[in-house]
Amino acid sequence: MPFCPSCHAEYRDGFTACSDCNLELVDKLQEIAAATAPGQGLGLSATPVLTTQKMMEADIVRGMLEAGGIEAETWSVGVTGYGSGLETYRVMVRAQDAGEAEALLKDVVEEGT
Ligand SMILES: [Zn+2]
Repeated sequence: MPFCPSCHAEYRDGFTACSDCNLELVDKLQEIAAATAPGQGLGLSATPVLTTQKMMEADIVRGMLEAGGIEAETWSVGVTGYGSGLETYRVMVRAQDAGEAEALLKDVVEEGT
């Protein structure tokens, strides 16, 4: 199913552009994520270190990573087509930073459980 990279609306096969945003549709979630972070450097090899439905949690974690010197981004991935309207937020880092990021976050994650 193609999705709009901006508003995350889902279209039926055969559509090529979002009627609201005039943007070319993409058909993979990863492509959406890349498209919603234009001009930023993590690229498609970025690795998620946290997946959450709370944007605030994602922002906090991203801030902690950046404070620790790790470049991080929050990618929002719209989950549509299941009647849920849920948004999932992923905190992404470069693949080579993933180990360090997980170590940095380990204490926090354990504290929350
Ligand atoms: Zn759109």
